[in-house]
Formats: sequence, C-alpha cells, structure tokens
Amino acid sequence: MPKDHTVLTRPKIKRAVFLDRDGTIIKEVSYLRRLKDLRLLPGAGRAIGLLKDSGFKIVVVTNQSGIARGYFDEEFLNKVHKEIQKRLKKKSAAVDAWYFCPHHPSQGKRPFRRHCVCRKPEIGMIEKAAKDLNIDITGSFMIGDSLRDLETGWNAGMRSILVMTGYGKETLSIMEPAKRRRISFVAKDLMEASKWIVENCHHLLPPYL
Ligand SMILES: [Mg+2]
Ligand SMILES: [Zn+2]
Repeated sequence: MPKDHTVLTRPKIKRAVFLDRDGTIIKEVSYLRRLKDLRLLPGAGRAIGLLKDSGFKIVVVTNQSGIARGYFDEEFLNKVHKEIQKRLKKKSAAVDAWYFCPHHPSQGKRPFRRHCVCRKPEIGMIEKAAKDLNIDITGSFMIGDSLRDLETGWNAGMRSILVMTGYGKETLSIMEPAKRRRISFVAKDLMEASKWIVENCHHLLPPYL
C-alpha cells in the first residue's frame, strides 16, 4: 500500500489578522510626520503577540495619503514602520508584513495623485498580501477604527472588528444601522479585539497547518 502523503503535500494556507495602523496600533495624530509623535497604543504589543501565538499572520494595511500630499516620503514611512517593529519586538510581538497606499485620488502631485486599487476600502493591499503570504481570506479578520477599514474587510470577504481607539467612537456614532449590524465585534481596543478572535472564533475556522 502506498503511504498517504496528503498531510505532507497539503499547501500551507495561513490565516491572518489585517490591522489598520493609525488609531488601531499607534496613536492617531493625523498624518504622523515626526518620529517623536509615535506612540504604541496601550496593550497593542501584547495583543499582536497573542494573535501570533494563536497562529495568525499579522499584516498591517494602511492608507498613507500623507505621501501623496507631500507631508512625508516613503523613506520616512519605512522608518516609522521599522520603529514600530522595534517597539513591538520589545513586547515579544512583530508584524509579519506591511502594506501601504501612498495615493490619493485628488490631492497632491503625480504619480501619487491617482485612483488606485490599494486605497482602502479597495482591497488591493489585502489581495497582494493574500498572494504574498498564502493567506486564506475567509478565515481572516480585519481590525480598524474607521468605516473604511470595516468596509475593506467586508469587500474582501472577511469579518471586521471595530476598535474604540482612534476615530472608533466617532465612526460608530455616525454609522448607518445596517452597517453597524455587519460589524462582528466592537472592541474597546486591540487587546479586546484580539482576545475575542482567539476565544470565540477558533471553532469557526477550517484547519490550518
Ligand atoms: Mg485608523
Ligand atoms: Zn493606492
């Protein structure tokens, strides 16, 4: 009898938690353009660590039209992401991949002033990440503080969680009831959102290697 190699040859499909950056992981300061204004939100490191320990890839997807608007450049943005990663590592956490949209449809100069498929709520960044990291979207989650984060998740076929940090409270207060009902969970912060995912959603997910 030939041996069954099914387990060995099954592709390694992973699930991910997609995270907004400003107002979700770090303090929302409206176009962060100085490293000294960078603050991790309380519990963000531990939250990301918990998700990683539970087998999720951590993917940041962030609209950064500050680049299109000329407030900062890509080099500075990369510096910010490096610094966030450094601070997360101190808390035994890390982001697996970063995706940003530098565009804006009407502000700033070309080549950044344009309609693109990466600016949330478009799902270009999600699709790219799914391809790059072999992520199963339907077993993944989106967490953010704005309606466009939630919509990005829904547009991609994920469950979306709203956090009350950043613009979260305002987002919830002006949201249409039909959209409110689509939110999978409203969390105080990233830690509460992460605990909810880990505690309530394991059984809903297909098996992952
Ligand atoms: Mg945000
Ligand atoms: Zn874009």
